[in-house]
Amino acid sequence: MNNLELKNRDLDVLWHPCTQMKDHETLPLIPIKKAHGVYLEDFDGNRYIDAISSWWVNLFGHTNAYINTKIKEQLDSLEHVILAGFTHEQVVRLSERLVKLSPEGLQKCFYSDNGSSAVEVALKMSYHAHLNDGKKRTLFVSLTNSYHGETIGALSVGDVQLYKETYEPLLMHSIQTQVPKDMSIEAAQVAACGFEELCKNRADEISAIILEPLVQGAGSMHMYHPEFLKLVREICDTYDIHFIADEVMVGFGRTGELFACNHADITPDFLVLSKGLTGGYLPLSVVLTTNEIYAKFYCDYNEHKAFLHSHSYTGNALACASANATLDIFENDNIIEKNRDTAKYMGKKLEKFLTLSNVKEIRQTGMICAVELQEYAPELRMGLKIYQYGLQHGVLLRPLGNVIYFMPPYIINKIEIDIMMDTALDAIKGLV
Ligand SMILES: *Cc1c(COP(=O)(O)O)cnc(C)c1O
Repeated sequence: MNNLELKNRDLDVLWHPCTQMKDHETLPLIPIKKAHGVYLEDFDGNRYIDAISSWWVNLFGHTNAYINTKIKEQLDSLEHVILAGFTHEQVVRLSERLVKLSPEGLQKCFYSDNGSSAVEVALKMSYHAHLNDGKKRTLFVSLTNSYHGETIGALSVGDVQLYKETYEPLLMHSIQTQVPKDMSIEAAQVAACGFEELCKNRADEISAIILEPLVQGAGSMHMYHPEFLKLVREICDTYDIHFIADEVMVGFGRTGELFACNHADITPDFLVLSKGLTGGYLPLSVVLTTNEIYAKFYCDYNEHKAFLHSHSYTGNALACASANATLDIFENDNIIEKNRDTAKYMGKKLEKFLTLSNVKEIRQTGMICAVELQEYAPELRMGLKIYQYGLQHGVLLRPLGNVIYFMPPYIINKIEIDIMMDTALDAIKGLV
């Protein structure tokens, strides 16, 4: 088997996500044979550093020996069981640990199997909690430039223009309030004032605000100050509006704390987690909430207040085993500390990009670094050029428009960081 053979078989029968399939007439599709650590290897023996953690999910490298062992162990005792009326050890243990590790006050875990569906869970739970209190609040607020997934509900609260335009007639109504325009504390205050204005006028319609704490991932790695989270928390308390923290991307150590909300020392009413939850192995997501919210659904059967949501693979045992193994590594290997060192090293290298005339801005939050190019027209597809250059030089970069970012697995070493970032630097130089 080689790259070409598998690519041709693939294109006969597969339709890939987030892809104009016609591009593959000229762009090679890359069949991966195996992966280890930060490296992916294709069927022709080419190796690529996975600078984007395979769509932001991988934390401790591919085919991690410890996680592999734990999943294999679980495989021989229980692969999956219905989570209604039944439970299992892995899901109980995982929930106990998440309650303990997450911001103070989050006490109950509701599982799903991907980030978008967990966002749906949080939206429904928020609406339903108000409803059980006798209040009908149908409106959700999100930030401009936000992304919360691609199912209809999650898409409705996102603010990605391309998606919105296309699917607009299918979406439920939501409103956007301005995201802080940069990482300054002033920008955080200005944006919070905007949200408060909105609440003053329409609080009795608003169920919740949903936001990506500190970094808007798909929104080109736009970053803002933790003060914004503090202020939003206060406003939510004043107006009895729920705070949904979508930490699908920023959760599990990406920002320098285990959860991004920790930077502001706040507890959201709903914490949405997925991506890194299983270390990047298996699909799993969870919504954590407070006992206060939970209590609003707790009553005699005939009062009909129970939460109405389920997925076939809710709380899958293999995925939970993978998540427990991931948390073991956090506990045993001092990961958050180590990440701070790695982030510092990446930050130093990031400064070099400012010397290039076609770079407009650099930004960093923990293990996420971004380089924004000057405003090239979208038709030039500069990101695609960087992507292709990266592949030719052994690095998987996947720019978002004119923004090149680095979000590698945490186990990346300095030599690999050098290769990853120097390759991007050369790619950007080559554009001028
Ligand atoms: C990726 C992502 C989602 C959606 O998760 P999927 O598993 O891709 O459905 C939701 N919110 C944020 C912030 C994300 O980055």
